[in-house]
Amino acid sequence: MQYSLYLHLPFCAIHCTYCAFNIFTRAQKLIPHYVRALQNELTMVQPPSEPVHTIYLGGGTPSLLAPTQIDTLLKTCQRAYTLSRDPEITMEINPGDVDQGYLESIREAGVNRLSIGMQSALPDELRLMARDHTPQAVSQVITAARKAGHTNISLDLIFGLPRQSFAAWRTTVREALSLQPDHLSMYALELEAGTALTRRVERGGLPQPDQDLCAEMYQWADSEAKQAGLIQYEISNWARPGWECRHNRQYWRYQPYLGFGAGAHGFAAGVRYEVMPDLRRYLELAGSQRERLPFPLSAAAVQSRQIDPLEAMGEYIFTGLRQVQEGVNLRDFEARFGIALAEAFPKALAKLLQSDLITLDQDRMRLTDQARLISNRVSLEFL
Ligand code: SF4
Repeated sequence: MQYSLYLHLPFCAIHCTYCAFNIFTRAQKLIPHYVRALQNELTMVQPPSEPVHTIYLGGGTPSLLAPTQIDTLLKTCQRAYTLSRDPEITMEINPGDVDQGYLESIREAGVNRLSIGMQSALPDELRLMARDHTPQAVSQVITAARKAGHTNISLDLIFGLPRQSFAAWRTTVREALSLQPDHLSMYALELEAGTALTRRVERGGLPQPDQDLCAEMYQWADSEAKQAGLIQYEISNWARPGWECRHNRQYWRYQPYLGFGAGAHGFAAGVRYEVMPDLRRYLELAGSQRERLPFPLSAAAVQSRQIDPLEAMGEYIFTGLRQVQEGVNLRDFEARFGIALAEAFPKALAKLLQSDLITLDQDRMRLTDQARLISNRVSLEFL
Protein backbone atom coordinates (compact mmCIF):
# COMPACT_ATOMS: atom_id res chain seq x y z
CA MET A 1 0.00 0.00 0.00
CA GLN A 2 1.27 3.46 -0.85
CA TYR A 3 0.25 6.85 0.52
CA SER A 4 -0.69 10.20 -0.98
CA LEU A 5 -0.28 13.72 0.38
CA TYR A 6 -2.71 16.57 -0.29
CA LEU A 7 -1.53 20.12 0.53
CA HIS A 8 -4.27 22.74 0.56
CA LEU A 9 -3.17 26.24 -0.47
CA PRO A 10 -6.30 28.30 0.14
CA PHE A 11 -5.38 31.70 -1.28
CA CYS A 12 -7.21 33.19 -4.28
CA ALA A 13 -7.01 36.59 -5.96
CA ILE A 14 -10.80 36.69 -6.39
CA HIS A 15 -13.69 34.45 -5.45
CA CYS A 16 -15.15 32.65 -8.48
CA THR A 17 -18.94 32.82 -8.39
CA TYR A 18 -19.50 29.03 -8.34
CA CYS A 19 -16.82 28.12 -5.83
CA ALA A 20 -17.62 26.70 -2.40
CA PHE A 21 -14.09 25.60 -1.46
CA ASN A 22 -12.40 26.76 1.70
CA ILE A 23 -10.52 29.73 0.23
CA PHE A 24 -9.46 33.21 1.29
CA THR A 25 -9.15 36.34 -0.81
CA ARG A 26 -7.19 39.41 0.36
CA ALA A 27 -5.05 37.19 2.59
CA GLN A 28 -1.97 36.83 0.43
CA LYS A 29 0.25 38.62 2.91
CA LEU A 30 -0.21 35.57 5.15
CA ILE A 31 1.34 33.19 2.58
CA PRO A 32 4.87 33.16 4.14
CA HIS A 33 3.36 32.49 7.56
CA TYR A 34 1.14 29.78 6.08
CA VAL A 35 4.06 28.03 4.37
CA ARG A 36 5.89 27.85 7.73
CA ALA A 37 2.80 26.45 9.47
CA LEU A 38 2.32 23.89 6.70
CA GLN A 39 5.96 22.84 6.98
CA ASN A 40 5.48 22.35 10.70
CA GLU A 41 2.30 20.35 10.16
CA LEU A 42 4.03 18.16 7.55
CA THR A 43 6.84 17.30 9.96
CA MET A 44 4.58 16.82 12.98
CA VAL A 45 2.42 14.02 11.54
CA GLN A 46 3.81 10.54 12.15
CA PRO A 47 5.14 9.39 8.76
CA PRO A 48 3.72 6.04 7.58
CA SER A 49 6.21 3.24 7.00
CA GLU A 50 5.00 2.82 3.39
CA PRO A 51 6.15 5.25 0.69
CA VAL A 52 4.27 8.28 -0.64
CA HIS A 53 3.68 7.99 -4.38
CA THR A 54 1.65 11.14 -5.10
CA ILE A 55 1.61 14.72 -3.84
CA TYR A 56 -1.14 17.15 -4.85
CA LEU A 57 -0.82 20.91 -4.38
CA GLY A 58 -4.44 22.07 -4.58
CA GLY A 59 -6.44 25.05 -3.60
CA GLY A 60 -7.25 27.75 -3.72
CA THR A 61 -4.69 28.93 -6.19
CA PRO A 62 -1.32 27.28 -5.52
CA SER A 63 0.21 29.33 -8.34
CA LEU A 64 -0.07 32.41 -6.08
CA LEU A 65 2.89 30.98 -4.17
CA ALA A 66 6.39 31.85 -5.34
CA PRO A 67 8.39 28.96 -6.85
CA THR A 68 10.75 29.13 -3.86
CA GLN A 69 7.78 28.49 -1.57
CA ILE A 70 6.68 25.50 -3.68
CA ASP A 71 10.27 24.24 -3.53
CA THR A 72 10.34 24.65 0.26
CA LEU A 73 7.11 22.68 0.67
CA LEU A 74 8.22 19.84 -1.61
CA LYS A 75 11.61 19.63 0.12
CA THR A 76 9.79 19.38 3.44
CA CYS A 77 7.70 16.50 2.05
CA GLN A 78 10.88 14.79 0.90
CA ARG A 79 12.52 15.16 4.29
CA ALA A 80 9.50 14.14 6.34
CA TYR A 81 8.25 11.19 4.22
CA THR A 82 9.72 8.39 2.17
CA LEU A 83 8.80 9.13 -1.42
CA SER A 84 8.49 6.39 -4.02
CA ARG A 85 11.04 6.37 -6.85
CA ASP A 86 8.81 8.18 -9.30
CA PRO A 87 6.21 10.20 -7.40
CA GLU A 88 3.47 12.05 -9.28
CA ILE A 89 3.54 15.69 -8.09
CA THR A 90 0.59 17.73 -9.32
CA MET A 91 0.07 21.46 -8.96
CA GLU A 92 -3.08 23.39 -9.83
CA ILE A 93 -2.37 26.41 -12.02
CA ASN A 94 -4.51 29.42 -12.77
CA PRO A 95 -4.05 30.52 -16.40
CA GLY A 96 -2.70 34.05 -16.57
CA ASP A 97 -0.83 33.84 -13.25
CA VAL A 98 2.42 32.31 -14.44
CA ASP A 99 5.10 32.62 -17.13
CA GLN A 100 7.65 30.21 -18.57
CA GLY A 101 10.25 31.10 -15.94
CA TYR A 102 7.78 30.25 -13.18
CA LEU A 103 6.87 26.96 -14.85
CA GLU A 104 10.57 26.05 -15.24
CA SER A 105 11.20 26.78 -11.58
CA ILE A 106 8.37 24.63 -10.28
CA ARG A 107 9.44 21.84 -12.60
CA GLU A 108 12.93 22.03 -11.09
CA ALA A 109 11.28 21.93 -7.67
CA GLY A 110 9.74 18.58 -8.62
CA VAL A 111 6.27 19.40 -9.99
CA ASN A 112 5.69 16.97 -12.89
CA ARG A 113 1.96 17.33 -13.52
CA LEU A 114 -0.07 20.51 -14.08
CA SER A 115 -3.81 20.85 -13.60
CA ILE A 116 -4.95 24.00 -15.37
CA GLY A 117 -8.31 25.62 -14.60
CA MET A 118 -9.57 26.46 -18.09
CA GLN A 119 -13.33 26.10 -17.33
CA SER A 120 -14.54 27.70 -20.60
CA ALA A 121 -13.24 29.02 -23.92
CA LEU A 122 -15.79 31.85 -23.99
CA PRO A 123 -15.21 35.30 -22.44
CA ASP A 124 -18.83 35.80 -21.34
CA GLU A 125 -18.87 32.44 -19.51
CA LEU A 126 -15.57 33.24 -17.82
CA ARG A 127 -17.10 36.57 -16.71
CA LEU A 128 -20.20 34.80 -15.37
CA MET A 129 -17.90 32.59 -13.28
CA ALA A 130 -15.69 35.61 -12.33
CA ARG A 131 -12.63 33.78 -13.62
CA ASP A 132 -9.74 36.21 -13.77
CA HIS A 133 -8.19 35.04 -17.05
CA THR A 134 -8.89 35.30 -20.75
CA PRO A 135 -9.51 32.32 -23.06
CA GLN A 136 -6.16 33.03 -24.74
CA ALA A 137 -4.32 32.71 -21.42
CA VAL A 138 -4.97 28.95 -21.48
CA SER A 139 -3.19 28.27 -24.76
CA GLN A 140 -0.40 30.64 -23.71
CA VAL A 141 0.18 28.84 -20.43
CA ILE A 142 0.17 25.43 -22.16
CA THR A 143 2.74 26.61 -24.71
CA ALA A 144 4.88 28.04 -21.92
CA ALA A 145 4.50 24.84 -19.85
CA ARG A 146 5.62 22.63 -22.73
CA LYS A 147 8.60 24.90 -23.41
CA ALA A 148 9.42 24.61 -19.71
CA GLY A 149 9.51 20.81 -20.08
CA HIS A 150 6.14 19.85 -18.62
CA THR A 151 4.80 16.72 -20.29
CA ASN A 152 1.74 15.90 -18.18
CA ILE A 153 -0.95 18.54 -18.52
CA SER A 154 -4.58 18.37 -17.48
CA LEU A 155 -7.37 20.83 -18.23
CA ASP A 156 -10.53 21.41 -16.17
CA LEU A 157 -13.83 22.37 -17.82
CA ILE A 158 -17.27 23.11 -16.38
CA PHE A 159 -20.55 22.49 -18.18
CA GLY A 160 -24.19 23.08 -17.35
CA LEU A 161 -23.85 26.80 -16.65
CA PRO A 162 -27.11 28.75 -16.53
CA ARG A 163 -28.05 29.76 -20.11
CA GLN A 164 -25.10 27.81 -21.56
CA SER A 165 -25.98 26.67 -25.07
CA PHE A 166 -24.92 23.42 -26.65
CA ALA A 167 -22.99 25.42 -29.27
CA ALA A 168 -21.06 27.26 -26.55
CA TRP A 169 -20.11 23.97 -24.88
CA ARG A 170 -19.07 22.54 -28.25
CA THR A 171 -16.71 25.49 -28.74
CA THR A 172 -15.16 25.01 -25.30
CA VAL A 173 -14.62 21.26 -25.69
CA ARG A 174 -13.19 21.59 -29.19
CA GLU A 175 -10.86 24.36 -28.10
CA ALA A 176 -9.71 22.31 -25.10
CA LEU A 177 -9.08 19.22 -27.25
CA SER A 178 -7.20 21.29 -29.84
CA LEU A 179 -4.69 22.06 -27.07
CA GLN A 180 -3.97 18.31 -26.86
CA PRO A 181 -4.13 17.86 -23.09
CA ASP A 182 -2.93 14.57 -21.64
CA HIS A 183 -5.86 14.58 -19.26
CA LEU A 184 -9.23 16.31 -19.23
CA SER A 185 -11.67 16.80 -16.34
CA MET A 186 -15.22 17.86 -17.23
CA TYR A 187 -17.46 18.65 -14.29
CA ALA A 188 -21.16 19.42 -14.32
CA LEU A 189 -21.78 22.67 -12.46
CA GLU A 190 -23.03 22.11 -8.94
CA LEU A 191 -24.99 24.99 -7.50
CA GLU A 192 -23.49 24.83 -4.03
CA ALA A 193 -25.27 26.59 -1.17
CA GLY A 194 -24.01 30.10 -0.44
CA THR A 195 -22.13 30.81 -3.66
CA ALA A 196 -22.74 34.02 -5.62
CA LEU A 197 -23.96 32.04 -8.64
CA THR A 198 -26.42 30.03 -6.55
CA ARG A 199 -27.80 33.23 -5.02
CA ARG A 200 -28.37 34.69 -8.48
CA VAL A 201 -30.26 31.57 -9.52
CA GLU A 202 -32.27 31.51 -6.28
CA ARG A 203 -33.29 35.14 -6.75
CA GLY A 204 -34.44 34.43 -10.29
CA GLY A 205 -31.66 36.45 -11.97
CA LEU A 206 -30.46 33.33 -13.82
CA PRO A 207 -32.28 30.12 -14.80
CA GLN A 208 -31.54 26.74 -13.29
CA PRO A 209 -29.20 24.70 -15.49
CA ASP A 210 -31.16 22.52 -17.91
CA GLN A 211 -30.59 18.90 -16.76
CA ASP A 212 -31.57 17.27 -20.06
CA LEU A 213 -29.22 19.56 -21.94
CA CYS A 214 -26.50 18.74 -19.40
CA ALA A 215 -26.91 15.03 -20.11
CA GLU A 216 -26.60 15.67 -23.85
CA MET A 217 -23.52 17.83 -23.30
CA TYR A 218 -21.91 15.12 -21.21
CA GLN A 219 -22.53 12.35 -23.72
CA TRP A 220 -21.39 14.44 -26.64
CA ALA A 221 -18.22 15.54 -24.82
CA ASP A 222 -17.44 11.91 -23.98
CA SER A 223 -17.59 10.90 -27.64
CA GLU A 224 -15.50 13.93 -28.71
CA ALA A 225 -12.87 13.13 -26.09
CA LYS A 226 -12.78 9.50 -27.27
CA GLN A 227 -12.28 10.57 -30.86
CA ALA A 228 -9.35 12.68 -29.67
CA GLY A 229 -7.77 9.58 -28.08
CA LEU A 230 -8.77 10.26 -24.49
CA ILE A 231 -10.33 7.36 -22.59
CA GLN A 232 -12.94 7.96 -19.91
CA TYR A 233 -11.66 6.31 -16.74
CA GLU A 234 -13.81 8.11 -14.17
CA ILE A 235 -17.22 9.75 -14.32
CA SER A 236 -15.73 13.22 -14.85
CA ASN A 237 -12.24 12.36 -16.09
CA TRP A 238 -10.64 11.37 -19.39
CA ALA A 239 -6.98 10.68 -20.14
CA ARG A 240 -4.59 9.42 -22.73
CA PRO A 241 -4.00 5.75 -21.87
CA GLY A 242 -1.41 5.64 -19.12
CA TRP A 243 -1.91 9.31 -18.14
CA GLU A 244 -4.67 8.83 -15.60
CA CYS A 245 -4.24 10.90 -12.43
CA ARG A 246 -2.60 8.63 -9.87
CA HIS A 247 -3.48 10.97 -7.02
CA ASN A 248 -7.20 11.00 -7.68
CA ARG A 249 -7.15 7.26 -8.26
CA GLN A 250 -5.91 6.97 -4.71
CA TYR A 251 -9.25 8.41 -3.54
CA TRP A 252 -11.33 6.29 -5.89
CA ARG A 253 -9.49 3.11 -4.92
CA TYR A 254 -10.13 3.92 -1.27
CA GLN A 255 -6.42 4.14 -0.50
CA PRO A 256 -5.01 6.33 2.29
CA TYR A 257 -4.10 9.99 1.94
CA LEU A 258 -2.90 12.58 4.40
CA GLY A 259 -4.35 16.10 4.17
CA PHE A 260 -2.48 19.24 5.25
CA GLY A 261 -3.48 22.88 5.33
CA ALA A 262 -6.61 24.82 6.35
CA GLY A 263 -9.72 22.83 5.52
CA ALA A 264 -7.90 19.82 4.04
CA HIS A 265 -9.35 16.34 4.52
CA GLY A 266 -7.46 13.13 5.17
CA PHE A 267 -8.19 9.43 5.44
CA ALA A 268 -5.71 6.91 6.82
CA ALA A 269 -5.69 3.98 9.23
CA GLY A 270 -9.48 3.93 8.99
CA VAL A 271 -9.70 7.49 10.35
CA ARG A 272 -11.32 10.30 8.40
CA TYR A 273 -10.42 13.82 9.52
CA GLU A 274 -10.62 17.49 8.64
CA VAL A 275 -7.97 20.11 9.29
CA MET A 276 -9.04 23.41 10.95
CA PRO A 277 -10.67 25.42 8.12
CA ASP A 278 -10.31 28.87 9.72
CA LEU A 279 -7.09 30.41 8.41
CA ARG A 280 -5.91 32.23 11.54
CA ARG A 281 -6.79 29.37 13.86
CA TYR A 282 -5.01 26.99 11.49
CA LEU A 283 -1.87 29.15 11.63
CA GLU A 284 -1.95 29.05 15.43
CA LEU A 285 -2.61 25.31 15.73
CA ALA A 286 -0.31 24.03 12.99
CA GLY A 287 2.44 26.56 13.62
CA SER A 288 2.79 25.90 17.33
CA GLN A 289 2.68 22.08 17.45
CA ARG A 290 5.83 20.66 19.04
CA GLU A 291 4.90 17.05 19.78
CA ARG A 292 3.55 14.27 17.61
CA LEU A 293 0.02 12.94 18.01
CA PRO A 294 -1.13 9.41 17.12
CA PHE A 295 -1.10 8.71 13.37
CA PRO A 296 -2.56 10.25 11.19
CA LEU A 297 -3.48 13.42 13.11
CA SER A 298 -1.80 16.77 13.64
CA ALA A 299 -2.76 19.34 16.27
CA ALA A 300 -4.63 21.22 13.52
CA ALA A 301 -7.05 18.31 12.93
CA VAL A 302 -10.42 19.41 14.30
CA GLN A 303 -12.71 16.57 13.42
CA SER A 304 -11.70 12.97 13.25
CA ARG A 305 -13.54 9.71 13.51
CA GLN A 306 -12.95 6.05 12.93
CA ILE A 307 -15.01 4.73 10.03
CA ASP A 308 -16.91 1.58 10.99
CA PRO A 309 -16.76 -1.45 8.66
CA LEU A 310 -20.27 -1.08 7.24
CA GLU A 311 -19.69 2.59 6.44
CA ALA A 312 -16.30 1.73 4.95
CA MET A 313 -17.91 -0.87 2.65
CA GLY A 314 -20.41 1.73 1.40
CA GLU A 315 -17.70 4.32 0.85
CA TYR A 316 -15.52 1.79 -0.95
CA ILE A 317 -18.33 1.05 -3.40
CA PHE A 318 -19.25 4.74 -3.73
CA THR A 319 -15.73 5.74 -4.80
CA GLY A 320 -15.04 2.55 -6.77
CA LEU A 321 -18.14 2.87 -8.94
CA ARG A 322 -16.90 6.28 -10.11
CA GLN A 323 -14.16 4.44 -12.01
CA VAL A 324 -16.05 3.60 -15.14
CA GLN A 325 -13.50 1.12 -16.55
CA GLU A 326 -12.03 -0.32 -13.39
CA GLY A 327 -15.20 -0.35 -11.31
CA VAL A 328 -15.32 -2.03 -7.91
CA ASN A 329 -12.76 -4.78 -7.53
CA LEU A 330 -14.69 -7.67 -5.98
CA ARG A 331 -11.63 -9.64 -4.84
CA ASP A 332 -10.11 -6.59 -3.18
CA PHE A 333 -13.47 -5.88 -1.50
CA GLU A 334 -13.58 -9.37 -0.04
CA ALA A 335 -9.93 -9.26 1.04
CA ARG A 336 -10.47 -5.96 2.84
CA PHE A 337 -13.79 -6.60 4.51
CA GLY A 338 -13.80 -10.38 4.93
CA ILE A 339 -17.14 -10.76 3.14
CA ALA A 340 -18.11 -11.05 -0.52
CA LEU A 341 -19.94 -8.02 -1.92
CA ALA A 342 -22.81 -10.25 -3.03
CA GLU A 343 -23.22 -11.46 0.54
CA ALA A 344 -22.95 -7.98 2.07
CA PHE A 345 -25.45 -6.27 -0.28
CA PRO A 346 -27.70 -8.93 -1.91
CA LYS A 347 -30.81 -6.71 -2.17
CA ALA A 348 -29.00 -3.67 -3.59
CA LEU A 349 -27.27 -5.84 -6.19
CA ALA A 350 -30.49 -7.54 -7.27
CA LYS A 351 -32.32 -4.23 -7.59
CA LEU A 352 -29.56 -2.49 -9.56
CA LEU A 353 -28.99 -5.45 -11.88
CA GLN A 354 -32.69 -5.64 -12.60
CA SER A 355 -32.79 -1.91 -13.37
CA ASP A 356 -29.79 -2.31 -15.69
CA LEU A 357 -27.75 0.22 -13.69
CA ILE A 358 -24.76 -2.01 -12.93
CA THR A 359 -22.94 -4.90 -14.56
CA LEU A 360 -21.32 -7.68 -12.62
CA ASP A 361 -18.73 -10.20 -13.74
CA GLN A 362 -16.43 -12.47 -11.77
CA ASP A 363 -14.02 -9.71 -10.83
CA ARG A 364 -15.72 -6.36 -11.14
CA MET A 365 -18.89 -4.38 -10.59
CA ARG A 366 -19.33 -1.40 -12.90
CA LEU A 367 -21.93 1.22 -13.75
CA THR A 368 -23.75 0.77 -17.05
CA ASP A 369 -23.48 3.66 -19.52
CA GLN A 370 -26.93 4.93 -18.62
CA ALA A 371 -26.05 4.97 -14.91
CA ARG A 372 -23.05 7.27 -15.26
CA LEU A 373 -25.18 10.38 -14.93
CA ILE A 374 -26.91 9.13 -11.81
CA SER A 375 -23.99 7.43 -10.12
CA ASN A 376 -24.68 9.04 -6.74
CA ARG A 377 -28.20 7.63 -6.74
CA VAL A 378 -26.85 4.18 -7.59
CA SER A 379 -24.24 4.35 -4.83
CA LEU A 380 -26.85 5.36 -2.28
CA GLU A 381 -28.18 1.80 -2.47
CA PHE A 382 -24.99 0.71 -0.68
CA LEU A 383 -24.71 3.49 1.90
S1 SF4 B 1 -9.58 29.99 -8.34
FE1 SF4 B 1 -10.39 27.94 -7.87
S2 SF4 B 1 -10.37 27.77 -5.65
FE2 SF4 B 1 -10.12 29.97 -6.14
S3 SF4 B 1 -12.18 30.80 -6.06
FE3 SF4 B 1 -11.80 30.22 -8.17
S4 SF4 B 1 -12.57 28.09 -8.34
FE4 SF4 B 1 -12.36 28.57 -6.16
